[in-house]
Amino acid sequence: MEKNKILRDTILKVDLNKISKNIKLIRDMVGPKVAIMAVVKANGYGHGAVDIAPAIMNAGADYLSVATLSEALEIRNCYADYPILIMGHTPNGYLEYAVVNNISLTIFSYDQALLISKLAQKFNVCAKVHIKIDTGFHRLGKEPNENYFNEISAIMQLPNIEFEGIFSHLALVNDAENEKQFSSFVLFVNKLKKAGFTFRYEHIADSIACVDFPEYRLNMIRPGALIYGMRGFHKGFLPVDQAISFETQISQIHTIMPGEGVSYDYLWKAQVTSRVATLPFGYADGYPRNLRDKGYVIINGLKAPIIGVICMDQCIADVTNIPNAVPGMKAVIYGDGKDGSMDINEVAILSGTNKNDILSRISLRVPRVYQK
Ligand SMILES: *Cc1c(COP(=O)(O)O)cnc(C)c1O
Repeated sequence: MEKNKILRDTILKVDLNKISKNIKLIRDMVGPKVAIMAVVKANGYGHGAVDIAPAIMNAGADYLSVATLSEALEIRNCYADYPILIMGHTPNGYLEYAVVNNISLTIFSYDQALLISKLAQKFNVCAKVHIKIDTGFHRLGKEPNENYFNEISAIMQLPNIEFEGIFSHLALVNDAENEKQFSSFVLFVNKLKKAGFTFRYEHIADSIACVDFPEYRLNMIRPGALIYGMRGFHKGFLPVDQAISFETQISQIHTIMPGEGVSYDYLWKAQVTSRVATLPFGYADGYPRNLRDKGYVIINGLKAPIIGVICMDQCIADVTNIPNAVPGMKAVIYGDGKDGSMDINEVAILSGTNKNDILSRISLRVPRVYQK
């Protein structure tokens, strides 16, 4: 069997030009002096991290970041030279893999820094780390107080470590809280600098912050959603475009009589003689199960509502008003909205979640098809 054969009607089309364009827009917005750390965790928000990484780097990003060691190694195994940061916590037992593979680590304790330093000496390399400051999110990092200052001072005496970055993350509660988090971070970094502890990169801004608060960009930003064309910003604006479309083809069409139901529990029942189309995607492909009676697909330019319980692998759409619908005909599950399809923003609203959730849950079972 040929490798990378598609073998399914349900596919995720990824337009690499759109991703490149989005990176270029970000570059133009921040100028040449701010480094762009492109966030490609969760398989590049579902787009396929390994396949989109070259488009991202060639369009002008400086750095990639992920959440976990396994994600970092997947990229490292394909690209020897791309700088990669693991933004999550890497357990002690796995540090060695990061150190020998030139993957930068997020740290927040002397104990872990010491282990990293020893491993780096053992393998005769220089490990790279970014130190995490907790300015309020209370996820990773420690508060910017005297204790942490002293701990960082001790960490930075350790041999075979390059202190490449220092960073924090905004909770994006409101303007006042953003400002409080940002200034406590900057104050602490400046205090460290005065004592002679410097970092190549200082960063706090994600997609929303890097557009809405130019002063928060410092000398590195960490956009994720923005790369994929998600416009979550409120104050600023950047015309980034969604890069994916999620498509399938009708498997079968049934004509059913008034009173007959479809799918588990017959939760949808025909009021009139109806034509219903079986579609080969379900919640195991990442389609939100709660879109029953809310979601719709576009067939031949027309809306076909998803009816009845969404199954693991299939669902059913009402095509009574699309008389020319036949098996094999294309159905757009998520599109750019221009053809009347649900874009990612609309899917997120209808299913009561956020856009990143909708993108990152599109499962590995869905073949990615890349367009240049
Ligand atoms: C996921 C993540 C980002 C990117 O967030 P977006 O909202 O997608 O831009 C940035 N920084 C950290 C620490 C993250 O975990």
